[in-house]
Amino acid sequence: MTKTLLSCRDLVVEYPTADGTLRAVDRVSLDIEHGQTLALVGESGCGKSTLARAIMGLARVTSGSIKLEGEELVGLSQRELRKYRPAIQMVFQNPYGSLNPRLPVGRIIEEPMMVQNVGTEAMRRKRVLDLLDRVGLTAAAAAQYPHQFSGGQRQRIAIARALALSPKLIVCDEPVSALDVSVQAQVLNLLVELQRDLGVSYLFISHDLAVVRHIAHATTVMYLGQIAARSSSREFWKVPAHPYVQALRDATPSMEAIRSGVSSHPVLEGEIPSALNPPAGCRFSSRCSYAIDVCRETEPPLRQVTEQSWVACHRVSVAADGTVMSPAIQQTAN
Ligand code: ADP
Ligand code: MG
Repeated sequence: MTKTLLSCRDLVVEYPTADGTLRAVDRVSLDIEHGQTLALVGESGCGKSTLARAIMGLARVTSGSIKLEGEELVGLSQRELRKYRPAIQMVFQNPYGSLNPRLPVGRIIEEPMMVQNVGTEAMRRKRVLDLLDRVGLTAAAAAQYPHQFSGGQRQRIAIARALALSPKLIVCDEPVSALDVSVQAQVLNLLVELQRDLGVSYLFISHDLAVVRHIAHATTVMYLGQIAARSSSREFWKVPAHPYVQALRDATPSMEAIRSGVSSHPVLEGEIPSALNPPAGCRFSSRCSYAIDVCRETEPPLRQVTEQSWVACHRVSVAADGTVMSPAIQQTAN
């Protein structure tokens, strides 16, 4: 049995803009289990980074709840949040912008410990060397500067910094998206290895299913601020799904294709509608080939279709024997 580390319930995050209120995260609920990886997937602009920032205490939550091991984080002052800060760390997408170019790598990794007043200087220095070793860099790296490292090595440095305070959760916001495909696999393998050794949980954000396929225990798919579907990884690729998830899956190349240099191709025709003015009913209805009247009128609730799968789609149905039928299957049957 796994135990829930972090849970969000009906989380709403809004941005005031010149054109009105933009609801970037709209009633999102999710659970991250101890020692596991929850993948958060969806096209650019669907609200992934906003959700990450809300969990980090960096975006103002409009309503809803974020609990870390049962402790409510929403509504805490920055001062009160400090107590929880070590438990949740983050690795960002851009390994060039996220490391201070003027600091040697040793200082960059030591910084979170300095801020939290952890240990003596000698203890922190020793910890820095241990962390460099853990992420596959040599002790010599401590005295060097970020620009002396490749993108992949910089993400290793960012991971070492994220590990410095022994977090329970690391929010990885597209941590390999800026890296070459060959380097991506190395960084993903490192994250898996660290999870195995340290029991850390990840919220792993990606716009690319191919990236999360082999590391996620469960996958949540967002579309325009809402959860379209979620599933254990075992069921994710098997169970007939939400048409949006189906489209994402169809666009994901096989491992063999990835090894020979193919990357995921664009998912769907058409632009994502503006979050300022989302379609009525199902938000995906404007791009869905199976949309019928009800889809344009009524918002589909997220409902459970198998033991480990939930979908928000009017057109997915469950037969009396428990077989899940996607609209694509029903279309051909008709
Ligand atoms: P993703 O990480 O999935 O690409 P984001 O969370 O960055 O998505 O953005 C979600 C939506 O919120 C987008 O429509 C984006 O334009 C908008 N958004 C993000 N940050 C801000 C901000 N600081 N102010 C106004 N709108 C924002
Ligand atoms: Mg983002």
